[in-house]
Amino acid sequence: MAAESAHRSPTFSAKPPEAAVLSTMQDVPLLISRILTHGSTIHGGSQVITWTGEGAPQRRSFAEIGSRAAQLAHALHDDLGVRGDDRVATLMWNNAEHVEAYFAVPSMGAVLHTLNLRLPANQLAWIVGHASDRVIIANGSLLPLLGPLLPHLPGVEHVVVSGPGDRSVLEGASARVHEYEELLAGKPTTYDWPELDELQAAAMCYTSGTTGDPKGVVYSHRSVYLHSMQVNMAQSMGLTDADTSLVVVPQFHVNAWGLPHATFMTGVNMLMPDRFLQPGPLAEMIEAERPTHAAAVPTIWQGLLAELTAKPRDVSSLTQVTIGGSACPPALMAAFDELGMRVCHAWGMTETSPLGTIARPPAHAVGTDEEFAYRLTQGRFPAGVEARLSGPGGERLPWDGESAGELEVRGPWIAGAYFGGTDGEAFRPEDKFSADGWLKTGDVGTISHDGFLTLTDRAKDVIKSGGEWISSVDLENALMAHPDVAEAAVVAVPDDKWGERPLATVVLKEGATADFETLRAFLAERVAKWQLPERWTVIPAVPKTSVGKFDKKVIRKQYASGELDVTQI
Ligand code: ADP
Repeated sequence: MAAESAHRSPTFSAKPPEAAVLSTMQDVPLLISRILTHGSTIHGGSQVITWTGEGAPQRRSFAEIGSRAAQLAHALHDDLGVRGDDRVATLMWNNAEHVEAYFAVPSMGAVLHTLNLRLPANQLAWIVGHASDRVIIANGSLLPLLGPLLPHLPGVEHVVVSGPGDRSVLEGASARVHEYEELLAGKPTTYDWPELDELQAAAMCYTSGTTGDPKGVVYSHRSVYLHSMQVNMAQSMGLTDADTSLVVVPQFHVNAWGLPHATFMTGVNMLMPDRFLQPGPLAEMIEAERPTHAAAVPTIWQGLLAELTAKPRDVSSLTQVTIGGSACPPALMAAFDELGMRVCHAWGMTETSPLGTIARPPAHAVGTDEEFAYRLTQGRFPAGVEARLSGPGGERLPWDGESAGELEVRGPWIAGAYFGGTDGEAFRPEDKFSADGWLKTGDVGTISHDGFLTLTDRAKDVIKSGGEWISSVDLENALMAHPDVAEAAVVAVPDDKWGERPLATVVLKEGATADFETLRAFLAERVAKWQLPERWTVIPAVPKTSVGKFDKKVIRKQYASGELDVTQI
């Protein structure tokens, strides 16, 4: 596979050219199989608990996951002929079988490709073809999606089906169809995991295309290993084997923020929601299984908050909530604080594995008035992520908490290129990588002298009004603090006088009475007057992308085509 290895020689034991003194340390490659072996032995009693919707949840120990991952690897090798860096895709919810695939596929040397089940069918077909997936492991409940897609996936030779769901949609498929449990049955429960090069491809994930075409990011064993260690640091998520983490963030979205790997390093139990991602079932599983930690994008938490307000439940076990993927609205953080769930805000991207920053306030701020402000930032860079800000002319900007520029990052778990397809070269578009190899994130913000990142916007969402920049996120956060507002999205629209001006699209809570004048007056107390939107509209719901982020492309299109009923004030 056309792996990008320009940053470093793939021979990890290379002798430095003129070194007088060689390191005397052992040269043990950082492999996913080592994480699996560690987790399934040292933490063999920890559990992956999968919600089933009715009856008892399914419980599987890390030791069982280890045995079953070995069985899956044998099945893929012996029965399906998976060899070398073949791509094995998953079309699955978060569940124990998905964790088994997470470990089996890379550990045997193949490449795990997690497919985003919320993508439109044509994009999914393109991605499967681009990645040259040979095998798809799919949940039975997702066959209505996969069935009609299969005729458009000529490279897929095998489909392995796991869990409940009608198989008849696959009848007549040219790919061979297998039952997951039948494949595993009787296979040896250990596997002689190969000693791979740590820079070898382990897993791949395509960006969700919020701001452009999907692009493939290929993680190495080494990048996954180092990223997992970082997730486990006390100043990061810092979980231990006393914790149970409710992993709502999908396994198809940037490795579920690294949690499946990180938990196997430390024995954290995982509570997996499978397909039960609605606020009701989430509240129910929190009450029943008492997780101590949870991770998801703000949209999920907005839904849960509304659910808990309507129907209070005992969620007292849940004391730590990691929120990322989009900016966490301050009102949401405050509401969760009230419920005793402490929000920890984090920033990252598909290209950054994803954890790039996490907002744990510095010790001197804890318990002071400054603490909440620190928690609202996107957070601090961990060791391993270097950052710099680039101004409009490419100049470096100071870390003064005021100078806003595009964030660029570099580090061992940050992408240095995109996957070019099996026959193509890895590529580095100029708008995504600097000449000296840093990732241009497309995110605009400031960095304080103590290394806390505050994002003001995505470069493509910033409103450029008469030579000044208006942050759409600031306006949204201010609007969402109003008690009548359920959600608000602000986008730039063309304006004859100013170039661009903000359009406020607002989702009102049920029974809310606030009118635009009231909302505008509310905003006027929180942002500069020249930033106040003149254009307003009420919408039934903010359009969302496949991973639950505000889809501003859709709102801009709706505005341009005159679909929105806009009031000028
Ligand atoms: P896509 O780029 O397709 O949306 P990603 O999941 O890779 O898919 O999204 C990464 C982007 O999400 C970041 O570049 C940033 O704009 C946004 N993002 C992630 N976390 C945060 C956060 N805590 N605050 C604000 N924006 C965030």
